[in-house]
Amino acid sequence: MLDFKLHLNPNPKPLPFSQDNANLGFGQIFTDHIFVSQYGKNKSWGSSEILPYGSLALDPASSVLHYGQALFEGMKAFGRTDGSIWLFRPEYNWKRMCDGAERLCLPPPSREIFLEGLKHLVSTDRQWVPRSQGSTLYIRPTLIGSEAFLGLRPAEEAKFFIVLSPAGSYYAEGFAPLKIWLERHDVRAVPGGLGAVKAGANYAASLRASIMAKSKKCSQVLWLDSTHEAIEEVGTMNVFFVFKDEIVTPALNGSILPGCVRDSALQLLRSKHSPFAKKVSERRLTLAEITERKAKGELEECFGTGTAAVISPVGEICDETSSISISKEVGAVSQWLLATLQGIQWGIIEDSFSWMTRLEDLS
Ligand SMILES: *Cc1c(COP(=O)(O)O)cnc(C)c1O
Repeated sequence: MLDFKLHLNPNPKPLPFSQDNANLGFGQIFTDHIFVSQYGKNKSWGSSEILPYGSLALDPASSVLHYGQALFEGMKAFGRTDGSIWLFRPEYNWKRMCDGAERLCLPPPSREIFLEGLKHLVSTDRQWVPRSQGSTLYIRPTLIGSEAFLGLRPAEEAKFFIVLSPAGSYYAEGFAPLKIWLERHDVRAVPGGLGAVKAGANYAASLRASIMAKSKKCSQVLWLDSTHEAIEEVGTMNVFFVFKDEIVTPALNGSILPGCVRDSALQLLRSKHSPFAKKVSERRLTLAEITERKAKGELEECFGTGTAAVISPVGEICDETSSISISKEVGAVSQWLLATLQGIQWGIIEDSFSWMTRLEDLS
């Protein structure tokens, strides 16, 4: 059992939203508390605390500020109409953070710190879990190197913390296919680099392309691999292409982030529940193949998968000079995956994979 100190916020904020009509957006408001755990020079995780939400004290020489030793996770808590709170595959996120810690030479948070820390923090702020249709409590576990030392070696001190942010329904403005920008210059990740882990540095590398995309009226970036030939991801989502006879997502080749929703979509599409008689493949997929199959009339759908949007249909891919139009309508596979995943998350469809955990049962 996790040993921690609870310091309740003496000045809790009035809820900055109404539970009947949560118009929350994303990532803009934070709850009354944070969870923090410290790793120290005795090579173990020491004190854990729930503290009033506020600034972290970091020495200006902290390694994270100079050498980018930072990892994060993104998860959601679902507040169902019966008052219960549920998480979707929380162990997946814990394990992924541990894999990332190995890559960045940070100490991995123990299962206890990650899952029980999350349980106690969300319980403390449970009135902040949105109750309106489709709204969730977004959870951001973060791990940073915090040792004050300018020599280049892994930090011997680290902090693991969790912040919570109520978030509105991603589809408040509808579920319409997006236009995405094919990025031909910048790459997000290379084999042997950091692409397979949720390192903050990956997102620093992606910002310039996303500004470019916005200036071209596109809402996400389609990333190619370092050869500029094969498809990798779309924005901060994994990507799937649906052809006449096959559903394809790029294989996890070391520069692609192993998404939880990607894995869940693959399991669903390969299960007896799937209504689609198409082969489901994880393999290399080139832009040339997509163009060729589009010309043959075999390209049916494209969509992104990720915690925030769950499923995000793509209608058009463009670059400076050309465009591949896919569909103006949301395709059948996108629609079925969204309905099935959301149905499981909100407790409307049977959870036959045991993906959901009730908050109280996290351990
Ligand atoms: C977080 C993330 C994803 C999606 O992962 P999920 O676990 O499905 O939310 C995909 N690609 C990148 C680059 C990401 O950062």
